[in-house]
Amino acid sequence: MILAQGLPESKIRRMPRTRRVMKEALLIKYGEIALRGNNRNLFEKQLCRDVQKRLAGYDIRVNRENGRFLAESRDPEFDYMKVAPLAAKVFGIIGVCPCVKSNNRDIENIIEMCVEYLKRQRPAGPFTFKVLTKRGDKQYPITSQEISAKVGRAVLEVIPGTTVDLHNPQVTLFVEVRNHVFIYAQTVKAHGGLPYGSSGKGALLLSGGIDSPVAGYLMAKRGVEITAVYFHSPPYTSERAREKVTDLSKVLAGFTGYFKLHVVTFTQVQLLLNQNVPAAKLTILLKRSMLRISEQIALKENCQSLVTGDSIGQVASQTMQSLLAVQSAVKLPIIRPLAGMDKQEIIDISRKIEAYDISVRPYDDCCTLFVADHPETKPKASIIENVEKGVEGLAEAEAAAIAGVEVQEFRFND
Ligand code: ATP
Ligand code: MG
Repeated sequence: MILAQGLPESKIRRMPRTRRVMKEALLIKYGEIALRGNNRNLFEKQLCRDVQKRLAGYDIRVNRENGRFLAESRDPEFDYMKVAPLAAKVFGIIGVCPCVKSNNRDIENIIEMCVEYLKRQRPAGPFTFKVLTKRGDKQYPITSQEISAKVGRAVLEVIPGTTVDLHNPQVTLFVEVRNHVFIYAQTVKAHGGLPYGSSGKGALLLSGGIDSPVAGYLMAKRGVEITAVYFHSPPYTSERAREKVTDLSKVLAGFTGYFKLHVVTFTQVQLLLNQNVPAAKLTILLKRSMLRISEQIALKENCQSLVTGDSIGQVASQTMQSLLAVQSAVKLPIIRPLAGMDKQEIIDISRKIEAYDISVRPYDDCCTLFVADHPETKPKASIIENVEKGVEGLAEAEAAAIAGVEVQEFRFND
């Protein structure tokens, strides 16, 4: 996802590299971690490392700079726009701005830099603009508003066809005065959230559908490290269905950096349940079995929770009564980040993270095999538990499924 604010990329001409004091760089902004009190330093360091790792394939160094990160290459020809979208996928980052930087913070130099910058990167023809200044260094002798006003006046004087528009400008020129001065007009919007892995770990029940990848994304965004579990039932489910899940794992690895998928062959469990329980109760018993198996994997992987893509009321197995009837299968808390979302809201996120086109590929999930025309929508937990107890060989079939788990690993650059 690249949502550029300010100049459209097509209208931007690259800066010439010859200027004496100006240097190109990538200014990286982070959000919520700034609020995390005593841990702030730790979080910043981790996040800085996360960004550095994500840009590892490039000749680029990421350092902390006064409430921002700064990524710089030794190569004066380096194209920062190429790596901006990569940095923007690191959770905790809120925006990535290709900028010019100078260590000369004199107001005259700031004005000159801004004018030069706009001259070279202006849209064709007349344009409206505003200047927005932020001082990371409050000791700087001129207020932010005064800096903006001085720069604005100079731009109006020197660049013909410019008009100030404070409310809806075509170009917003940002000036940040920190240890250095940074000038930029474009932001690649990032996803925000908390540094990945800073909020514990969860096992995500990942199907090839629309919902569970979104659930995984949302939890990972809150800093929860994800390990995924996928159930398939060959030969009833196809290789194509499994391929959807591996492709979705790659999408999620694009955010998390590393992503582990456990593939469980569920055929025997599914056949056993199908032969031994009333059709209307099959879905709920399959869910319990999936959760039990996932919990064993979760415990091995040191997870503190299970994560599913359930959304209240979406299908028969997602009524309150159904959620209650599956709960007693496991001890770990089941987190359902989509519980209160409408389908359209979930689809919007699915599209934003570029999972949607994969999720809608038309291959069957094991959950849709043998399902009843009219599954129970208000199962009674105690009855479900009794039916389950009567299924001979269920524990053994589940243990065999766990023993046969295949692990696949994905990295953001796969
Ligand atoms: P999704 O779009 O995530 O597949 P769904 O709308 O199809 O969800 P269900 O089939 O009831 O709804 O599944 C609810 C949740 O159960 C899923 O979001 C997922 O977390 C889990 N789940 C379902 N099928 C599988 C599977 N084959 N492997 C792993 N988890 C699954
Ligand atoms: Mg599904």
